[in-house]
Amino acid sequence: MPGLRNAIFRTAMEALYFSGAHVLMRPLTGGVGTILTLHHVRPPRPGRFQPNRLLEVTPYFFGRVIRKLRRSRVDLVSLDEMHRRMTERDFSRRFVCVTFDDGYRDTLQHAYPVLKKYEVPFALYVATGFADRVGEMWWLALEAVIAKSKMIGLRIDGEDKFFECRTVAEKRHLFDELYWWLRRRKTEQELRQVVRDLAARHHVDIGAFCGELCMTWQEITELAADPLVTIGAHTVNHPILAKLSDAEVRSELQNSRAVIEAALGRRPQHLAYPVGDNTSAAAREFRIAAELGYKTAVTTRPGAIFPEHASHLLALPRVSLNGEFQKPRYARVLVSGAATGLWNGFRRLNVA
Ligand SMILES: [Zn+2]
Repeated sequence: MPGLRNAIFRTAMEALYFSGAHVLMRPLTGGVGTILTLHHVRPPRPGRFQPNRLLEVTPYFFGRVIRKLRRSRVDLVSLDEMHRRMTERDFSRRFVCVTFDDGYRDTLQHAYPVLKKYEVPFALYVATGFADRVGEMWWLALEAVIAKSKMIGLRIDGEDKFFECRTVAEKRHLFDELYWWLRRRKTEQELRQVVRDLAARHHVDIGAFCGELCMTWQEITELAADPLVTIGAHTVNHPILAKLSDAEVRSELQNSRAVIEAALGRRPQHLAYPVGDNTSAAAREFRIAAELGYKTAVTTRPGAIFPEHASHLLALPRVSLNGEFQKPRYARVLVSGAATGLWNGFRRLNVA
């Protein structure tokens, strides 16, 4: 399915680009601003099996996007400034917020120098368990297991099942199957347990990814000292919140904020829901985030920001810079909001 979604999205992007429709549709779809989502910014890696590649863009593409934005008529603003504009209904100029999820070291290495050069404010949503080196980046463990194996054994509903994954095509297919099967597990605990077993069986160290990829508190502290940077919360364990109890959701949102405050001396006011689609964060999570006093919270539901979002600041959509769409000409379409408007069926609000 993600393959099909991508194909449709690519066709739509090309159509929008070549027809110039993104300019014509701007008043309809562009809203008052856009929040961009990024994960990794790093040089391309060799290898054809990279199922998580949509989560990374190259420093070159990232540089193009930032330069293009700097030269355009939009204001690049911090989350606090976005919040001010929304609450005071100051929509005289379009804004873009740049945000990074998870707290990867490549944000510091490859994105920060560009953002610093062009003086672009940005936010970093830190999962404290990753910085503490106790997180489980299960989607990467799944990729690593499939990458190194020719066959995978899994216990599904009390039965041992085996899946072949010799070729790149088989690996891609199996990753998609297992990824979405895991996402459908009832509890986060079950999802994690399956991946832990799988990783152990195939000698993949699930705990090693944090140390390899994520910033230490020392590095986060360095970044946080720059006035361009806003540190936001992204939970402790990076769970799919919708699979947790009310009390667990509350503790994830509260404890991550407390840990960041203890480390940096500043209490985060902004939140990003892990995974962040409508099966991961919805009405209950938005309500709890509001009750805990967060000023804004972002999802990964695609879309631009409209004036109506002023009443839904804990359920904000974002536009992802997706590694599968790195042609420079796409950058303009993305920022116009037209592509995600199309994706969204032109629904302005998607906050339930
Ligand atoms: Zn995340």
